[in-house]
Amino acid sequence: MKIAIIPGDGIGKEIIEQAKKVLKAASVKYKFDFEYEEVLLGGAAVDATGVPLPDKTVEVCKKSDAVLLGAVGGPKWDSLPSKLRPEAGLLGIRKALGVFANLRPAILFPELISASNLKPEVLGGGLDIMIVRELIGGAYFGEKNRIDIEGGKKAWDTISYTSFEIDRITRKAFEIARKRNNKLTLVDKANVLESSKLWREVVGNIAKEYEDVEINYMYVDNASMQLIRDPKQFDVILTENMFGDILSDEASMLTGSLGMLPSASVRGDSFGLYEPVHGSAPDIAGQNKANPIGTIMSVAMMLKYSFNMEQAYVDIKNAISKVLEEGYRTGDIALEGSKLVGTEEMGDLIVNNL
Ligand code: NAD
Repeated sequence: MKIAIIPGDGIGKEIIEQAKKVLKAASVKYKFDFEYEEVLLGGAAVDATGVPLPDKTVEVCKKSDAVLLGAVGGPKWDSLPSKLRPEAGLLGIRKALGVFANLRPAILFPELISASNLKPEVLGGGLDIMIVRELIGGAYFGEKNRIDIEGGKKAWDTISYTSFEIDRITRKAFEIARKRNNKLTLVDKANVLESSKLWREVVGNIAKEYEDVEINYMYVDNASMQLIRDPKQFDVILTENMFGDILSDEASMLTGSLGMLPSASVRGDSFGLYEPVHGSAPDIAGQNKANPIGTIMSVAMMLKYSFNMEQAYVDIKNAISKVLEEGYRTGDIALEGSKLVGTEEMGDLIVNNL
């Protein structure tokens, strides 16, 4: 396995170190070989090369089977023009790698139920929802404009999808549902939007090829309500770009902690870019305070989705659960009476349990 590793900025380096330890432990336990190359992105790349996405980074990532990314950005680079800002590197690498599907799991470990805003009875022993969001189409990329009209202005954005774009992500979502609980919900607004009607048509046709997966359809207004009312009814949610942007943030709040959540951006083959959902947390960078669990879960997702190692995913998740069960917490998820640990110790505890 060839892995490109991008520590990035802020807490990026600290959390990536813990993820590397887990990857190494997994390689011993499951007997696989991996090699990795570290490359620059974001502020670190600006400092070293003058640009946020050096050509070498793109080259190394393209030659790899998967990419693991920490986080980028920070106040030091905030005043740069937008094409030189760290975020431009992030968007640039996703685009260069052609990743069109964003997988955002909302996982709530049973031990952290009190961190959620929802009542424990609604959460019924934890949560594990996967949101599959289309990443490079829809309103954010469609035709947009602004014109002057008599007495005011007019602006518009266009939601546009081809059947090809819907087809490729739908197949991905069905495959993911097969690796989970065989349940897929398409979220759309097919009662009013033509693009949503096309989504339903394409998804409905592909569903015939995946009869083992239960398919449901839900309007986005209802879905946003159901996520709060009864989140456990969902397993995999498939949706277009803008709905996915909003629903994935809503779902992540159900879990109560940003530092715990992983994500993946994938395409039609087994390649993927894996990263925690949170940013570079400049307020706690370099202090051994960052929670490395989102990044470690990103490694687990990489082993599952890029390298087909389902058992490794389950074991890493269980190792994290065990550490939480024993009462260990980084500051962001600490409760009264928790055993407070730093980034490194949390990484070591998870490795020991694995
Ligand atoms: P952030 O996610 O970095 O931090 C928000 C809050 O959550 C902070 O208080 C931080 O200390 C805390 N936090 C985040 N991750 C944590 C972790 N692993 N452990 C413990 N606490 C954690 O968001 P922000 O403050 O809005 O952004 C900071 C920088 O990160 C900005 O430059 C922003 O552009 C960038 N950013 C990068 C990414 C990315 O690389 N994917 C995503 C979001 C923001």
